[in-house]
Amino acid sequence: IGRIGVLTSGGDAPGMNASLRAVVLAAKHHSIDVVAFRHGYEGLLNDDWQHMNESDVLHILQYSGTIIKSARSERFREADAPAAAAQVLDKHQIDALIVIGGDGSFRGAGHLGSVWQKPIVGIPGTIDNDLYGTDATIGYATAVETAMDALDKIRDTAEAMDRVFIVEVMGRHAGFIGLSSAMAAGAERMILPELQKQKPLTVEALVKHIENVQKVRGDSSYVMVLSENQWPGGAVRLAEQLEDRLHLPCRPCLLGHIQRGGRPTASDRILATRIGVHAVNLVMAGANQVMAGIIADQPVATPLADTWQQRKGLSEEMIQIQQTLFNPVKRTAPTS
Ligand code: ATP
Repeated sequence: IGRIGVLTSGGDAPGMNASLRAVVLAAKHHSIDVVAFRHGYEGLLNDDWQHMNESDVLHILQYSGTIIKSARSERFREADAPAAAAQVLDKHQIDALIVIGGDGSFRGAGHLGSVWQKPIVGIPGTIDNDLYGTDATIGYATAVETAMDALDKIRDTAEAMDRVFIVEVMGRHAGFIGLSSAMAAGAERMILPELQKQKPLTVEALVKHIENVQKVRGDSSYVMVLSENQWPGGAVRLAEQLEDRLHLPCRPCLLGHIQRGGRPTASDRILATRIGVHAVNLVMAGANQVMAGIIADQPVATPLADTWQQRKGLSEEMIQIQQTLFNPVKRTAPTS
């Protein structure tokens, strides 16, 4: 392998820069050239590229975003896109490509692989944690930390003002951020895609739960975590519906894109570095159409197609714990 290409694609995630840095430094260590295609697959189609040297990636691991830019590319989904991209890759004499992104980006890698048959290795860079083949994706831990931080702040005002808050977090298809941030911040309720699929919650059920928690605990503050796209009209509408029924101030809070930014946590930086180096090792070993991941503290490779076809489930134990802790039962006074 003389030269590898690298790109970041889809939604940006904290730690993408750290993984890019690891790829470049590891490749250079093995005297491999690195060419980055800027703006994901869109940049690949546009032949928007730059050489990557050690000096380009110094001191970037502490920053979110991606210095080589990311994008979504509708054009890349088209049937003739792989041939056009292959032409660009061949023009630059790229021997292998590393794609840093989420499941969509890996589908894109499969699409490209139908024409360009050199090694393509994926690095799981997405805050959603919804990829099979790695215990955690790069960016997930930071997103949970950010959501937890916001939930703690919301709790302060919920507590002071006796309010109900509905905090909308990212994760339209997977409730990892919702579940983990709810547990970390002690939120009383969570509405997650996986749970909604099993048994959709009604306003009545939520009202009953809020009233029960408030009555048993003697505390009117109540914080609910809502995964995006899980309620018609989102947190804003749900807050109105609850306020109508409870006659208590109910307020929505949409965390939005702050969940993608901030300083990556130590665990994300370490994960990104390990997976970045592992991806270069896989490329050098000739692996193709696999994702580099870490399972039970060991570097592993998983076929790209499995990463989205196989489902990584939420922890049943964590769901149970949340449901147990936040279903308070009023104790009858001891008789003796
Ligand atoms: P995240 O979920 O964190 O936003 P992602 O990688 O899943 O990251 P997507 O927007 O789903 O983000 O995908 C990124 C890009 O990958 C798309 O803009 C498109 O260019 C390409 N892509 C996605 N799905 C396909 C597909 N089925 N065929 C070809 N290309 C695809």
